[in-house]
Amino acid sequence: MEGSLTARDRVGIQDFVLLDAYTSETAFMDNLRKRFNENLIYTYIGTLLVSVNPYKELGIYTKKQMDIYMGVNFFELPPHIFALADNVYRTMISETSNHFILISGESGAGKTEASKKVLQFYAVCCPSTRLLDNVRDRLLLSNPVLEAFGNAKTLKNDNSSRFGKYMDIQFDHQGAAVGGHVLSYLLEKSRVVHQNHGERNFHIFYQLVEGGEDELLRWLGLERNCQNYRFLIQGECAKVSSINDKSDWKTVQKALIIIEFSEKDIERWNTFFCFLFLHFLCFRNPCLCSIYHFQVLSPFTAEHAKYARDALAKAIYGRTFSWLVCMVTWNLQNLLFIKTVIGLLDIYGFEVFDMNSFEQFCINFCNEKLQQLFIQLTLKSEQEEYEMEGIEWEPVPYFNNKIICDLVEEKHRGIISILDEECLRPGEATDFTFLEKLEEKMCGHPHFVTHKLADQKTRKTLERGEFRLLHYAGEVTYSVAGKLFNVATQFKSSLAGLTEILMTKEPWYVRCLKPNHCKQPDRFDDVMVRHQVKYLGLMEHLRVRRAGFAYRRRYEVFLKRYKALCPDTWPHWKGTPAEGVQRLIKHLGYKPDEYKMGRTKIFIRHPRTLFAIEDAFEIC
Ligand code: ATP
Ligand code: MG
Repeated sequence: MEGSLTARDRVGIQDFVLLDAYTSETAFMDNLRKRFNENLIYTYIGTLLVSVNPYKELGIYTKKQMDIYMGVNFFELPPHIFALADNVYRTMISETSNHFILISGESGAGKTEASKKVLQFYAVCCPSTRLLDNVRDRLLLSNPVLEAFGNAKTLKNDNSSRFGKYMDIQFDHQGAAVGGHVLSYLLEKSRVVHQNHGERNFHIFYQLVEGGEDELLRWLGLERNCQNYRFLIQGECAKVSSINDKSDWKTVQKALIIIEFSEKDIERWNTFFCFLFLHFLCFRNPCLCSIYHFQVLSPFTAEHAKYARDALAKAIYGRTFSWLVCMVTWNLQNLLFIKTVIGLLDIYGFEVFDMNSFEQFCINFCNEKLQQLFIQLTLKSEQEEYEMEGIEWEPVPYFNNKIICDLVEEKHRGIISILDEECLRPGEATDFTFLEKLEEKMCGHPHFVTHKLADQKTRKTLERGEFRLLHYAGEVTYSVAGKLFNVATQFKSSLAGLTEILMTKEPWYVRCLKPNHCKQPDRFDDVMVRHQVKYLGLMEHLRVRRAGFAYRRRYEVFLKRYKALCPDTWPHWKGTPAEGVQRLIKHLGYKPDEYKMGRTKIFIRHPRTLFAIEDAFEIC
């Protein structure tokens, strides 16, 4: 523990709620920076975990560390992703409830790494049997497979997730991990045919060329040289120092065998590689195309041929990826009894490039929706609950990004609806008529910048064919080119489906921060981090947490769990649950500032108060 005053000065405070000058952003930043400089990348705001990407190995994810965190009360050890994972797990077991961990932050902030650590913790620390060892391995190995096909090097991150992933880890009545279920969201398919400068295609292509066995390459007619394939070198960075494609290929192949992909599956997938390497696609071969039910008509103009080739490549890659996710899920499904689940959400982070296409629009909209969910579940509902329960409360103001979500998705009026309308006018509608409509209908909206108003609102001009949105995390200029191929409505519905899945579970949050733009260790860019602290709403969250109550339970639930601690309430309490709880806490000696009695629930200010009775309960 970080006890003495000097240590505290040096390493800061492990829970922002305990900061003296807690409302000041400067104090918040000082604490974060101090800790980062001491390689302490985790800090709490109550039960929310803030994580700063160290961009270096810290040796804090070992089996020994897992053992230290396993089964220990949340605030008794320094903050850690394992502490959060353990707390979620134990709450799930003790309350027989479903949970999800929402990991957010911009591209490169460390979301995927955090989600892998959580999965590893459960794989190693949950009770297991020899039968379940196999499930555990499959759960862990689903990651390298999905990453090989769904991640790529971008300017922001050498291993950037180009799809959204939601995974349920399923537990049985003994708390053993018995299976999993994976859902994927909108893969960035355009990457197969186009990469910006400094970016790569999906990892799997480079892995195959670098690591594929000689015989396989010969069979596929491929050469061991990425430079021969235009789709792999558009970004001029086929080799990346942080990535070892050769050994990653081996890992993926081993993983495929353990996840039990059959030889036939692997063969099918090799055929898919044949399609995607250019020299196959350049020779228009009706036999090959017919397998995927595509008909490619002749004669082509050069432009049409390129267009058809690209569309075919994207479609094949997209379908293969969906098939892969289905296969992984199929092989993770369990035939045993599932009692509870912990969902892990790792989705592409908010991103801004010089050129932002339809895919960035979807990615950023998704982040906007998740921020809205966070606001609803923490800031808004927390404050509404105090009001409903009649608890005295000074409201904390916060920025609600619902206005931006509505701008994108509102029925009949949002950008997606306008896009849909335009798609229904084939032959007449173009990217430009879509933009004109947007400008006409959205003109005056505080978060939409049109061509005409660009200078006044953000002092940055727009090119023709662009519009700008002022997102919660910053402004992004989108190009309308190609937007009329609309899958936005489908994406919108799949996000609505995801929100529904999440709303039935108890939320936990990991907010990841990126310390600098150069992916370098030991560099803490104040301006950049402060910006993220702002838009992630961390200060507001801290204010609500600091003024609020860490724990609340309905009277009957609280009484049922702890009534054995008081002779008046044990074994049967005849009065109302609220009176029973009153009697119970009087017996426990709670001080008036430690708790509040609401209309239907008891509110406990600090988790330590609760831990004390949990410990007493265990002894009893
Ligand atoms: P994207 O939205 O682009 O997918 P992300 O938030 O998932 O980004 P990660 O891929 O998790 O970002 O992290 C980017 C890189 O930062 C990792 O490849 C790794 O090098 C480094 N990194 C992240 N978290 C940690 C950590 N806890 N310890 C050491 N390095 C880390
Ligand atoms: Mg990621």
